[in-house]
Amino acid sequence: MEISSELRQLLIIPQNVAIFSHRNPDGDAIGSSLALRHYLEQYGHTVHVLFPSEYPEELEFLPGAEEILIWDIHTEECKHVLQQKNVFFFLDFNSLSRIDKMGDFVKNLPGKRILIDHHLYPEPIAEHTFSEPEASSTCELVYRFIDAMGDSVRVNPKVGECIYTGIVTDTGSFRHATNPRVFRIVADLIDRGMDDTAVQDSIFNSQKEKNLRLLGHCLANRMEYWPELRTALIWLSKKDYEQFSIQRGDTEGIVNYLLTIKDVKMAAFIHNQPTIVKLSLRSKGDLDVQEICRKHFNGGGHKNAAGAFSHDSLKATIEKFKNLLPEYKAELLK
Ligand code: 5GP
Ligand code: MN
Repeated sequence: MEISSELRQLLIIPQNVAIFSHRNPDGDAIGSSLALRHYLEQYGHTVHVLFPSEYPEELEFLPGAEEILIWDIHTEECKHVLQQKNVFFFLDFNSLSRIDKMGDFVKNLPGKRILIDHHLYPEPIAEHTFSEPEASSTCELVYRFIDAMGDSVRVNPKVGECIYTGIVTDTGSFRHATNPRVFRIVADLIDRGMDDTAVQDSIFNSQKEKNLRLLGHCLANRMEYWPELRTALIWLSKKDYEQFSIQRGDTEGIVNYLLTIKDVKMAAFIHNQPTIVKLSLRSKGDLDVQEICRKHFNGGGHKNAAGAFSHDSLKATIEKFKNLLPEYKAELLK
């Protein structure tokens, strides 16, 4: 990764910085945003992190999480803060549509824009774009950005915790999308004082009883499996949302259990959130679920992990998904 002298000059003088990440922020969105914030603050920048919607409770432990501004909740404060900014970082997303109304607002503000992301097909929304779809996570790229600035000494335990969180969550605890570099980065984070066991404990051993019961319900009552198409599905209705009082983040990771079935190639999670139907697709190997989401549901993401929304009913969305499968049969059976 190379940083132009123009960008370097901009960042070594205190600026008014806003860092954005995508709706339904995950570990990589929040980890990369807070890591960058804690790094930039070492240069005296005034930094705010802004998300369109709330982040999952199990990520509240991250340093600075409580100060994140949520557009859905603090709209006026977000607008007020953004009007004072002159540097905008876009992290872990590739299109302004991924930050909803905040994107429309930011589009018209004067300032420099920097995108750091690993999703496919970034749109031209920044003057400086660091896009690497092969990277494990945006957190990996934030580490390499800091390193390219010649600042690896500034990766203190606080920055390290945030970076480690995104790497662990986006690689499914080092099960996919890894590369040799990511293990070296983690080794360096530990050398610099980051407590990896404590971070994993905070993320994964912090379940609520009701979420474990919800998982049981999904696996026992809401799972479908078509071995002839090597595809599995879990669905949740509006009624399930009420019965289990499902809130933000409660369904995170459920789709991954389907990938543990031997021979499964594609896993789907289709659920009726209070206002929309959300799809999450996961795949193994060469099957490109990003393409399926983009082509048929107007969504996107990565080759092996993608998502989309639908305004059709839950039933219609499930039917549409099922009917698509024969089209991909050759790839599913490969
Ligand atoms: P998830 O299924 O966990 O919500 O998302 C999986 C991946 O797909 C993430 O990288 C996420 O950013 C991306 N993704 C999820 N929903 C959408 C969507 O509606 N549009 C686009 N372009 N990407 C999405
Ligand atoms: Mn990511």
